[in-house]
Amino acid sequence: MKLHEYQSKNLFAQYGVPIPKGRVAATAAEAREIADELGGRVVIKSQVLVGGRGKAGGVKLANNGDEAEQLAREILSMEIKGLPVRKVLVDQGIDIETEIYFGITNDRSARRPVLIASAAGGVDIEEVAATTPEKIIRVHVDPLLGLRDYNVNDLAAGIELPRIHWKAFGQIAHGLWKAYLESDATLAEINPLVITGDGQLLAVDGKVVLDDNALFRQQNLVEMRDLDAEDNSEIEANKFGLTYIRLDGEIGCMVNGAGLAMATMDMVKLYGGEPANFLDIGGGASEEKVAAALRIILKDKRVKAVLFNVFGGITRGDEVAKGILAALKEVNPDVPMVIRLVGTNAEEGRKLLAEADMITAETLSEAAQKAVEAAKGA
Ligand code: GDP
Ligand code: MN
Repeated sequence: MKLHEYQSKNLFAQYGVPIPKGRVAATAAEAREIADELGGRVVIKSQVLVGGRGKAGGVKLANNGDEAEQLAREILSMEIKGLPVRKVLVDQGIDIETEIYFGITNDRSARRPVLIASAAGGVDIEEVAATTPEKIIRVHVDPLLGLRDYNVNDLAAGIELPRIHWKAFGQIAHGLWKAYLESDATLAEINPLVITGDGQLLAVDGKVVLDDNALFRQQNLVEMRDLDAEDNSEIEANKFGLTYIRLDGEIGCMVNGAGLAMATMDMVKLYGGEPANFLDIGGGASEEKVAAALRIILKDKRVKAVLFNVFGGITRGDEVAKGILAALKEVNPDVPMVIRLVGTNAEEGRKLLAEADMITAETLSEAAQKAVEAAKGA
């Protein structure tokens, strides 16, 4: 579960991290009121659950109430990466001197949390990571000791933060750490953490991702959940007990089992394709579940071919086939579909599918190749 920027910053503020003054508005008139209250010079920021809002035109500076109202109207009518903007955050405009990146996340391979910082923060941080990775400093935290001052000092020294800011940085680091820890977050990020013209440190942007497996004990945070703003397909998938994650490619994948789904995606990439999603229909998937999964995959208009890779263990091939046939009746797909079905009741499944217009494959590599070719032809 992701928190909005305004929710993330309010959470950080509860742990002593300084943030700009501001409030959320759902209409242009409200945005104007808030701007007037804050003295006119404000930044209008779209509240959507994706990054890169600045580059997409979803963050704009206004000099007075009139401009704030006008810009809020424009931003409230935008869609950013497919998500409609329903709210804007109106924050007091900050005079920015330096933009720092500062985040805490789990480093799974090190089996511990890691602090990440860079003096080259702001909207180009991905570019910095790709082209000048030495500008990104990482410091691991011993989970049994918790965050120690020497961790923070290593980080501050690593990004060559001027000494005069170390005290304020330390307070922010400890605040962010506590927020991360007590919220069961998998990511707590400030980008940018700015040094203002008058030498203050301020969290201008905030992002929090919570561990879904810990939500049962995070009732206060769960109440903040904004289902309207989440990817509809992921919510829909959740309802059917499917694990679906949207990606950027063109080959829709329907697979049973997380490991098999990963292997399938690897094979698609090996043969020059890009998966459009990760989708695990789980063990023992019913006809209803399979139909829902196919509907979700086909709703994504970037999908140029669908690859089914089903290994029947508990899952029965005939059930899967019935699900596919049911879904095909509802949604009339105009993309080619490749299926590899093996294991329990695979034979029965294949018989049922003979009437459907699908490309069949014996092995996973054959199926992946056929799907990549089919997507290119479409
Ligand atoms: P993101 O693009 O989704 O990460 O949105 P951010 O909240 O990080 O804003 C993008 C960029 O807008 C920041 O990196 C800043 O350069 C700029 N920005 C945001 N708020 C302010 C502000 O109050 N004053 C100024 N001058 N720039 C701002
Ligand atoms: Mn940002």
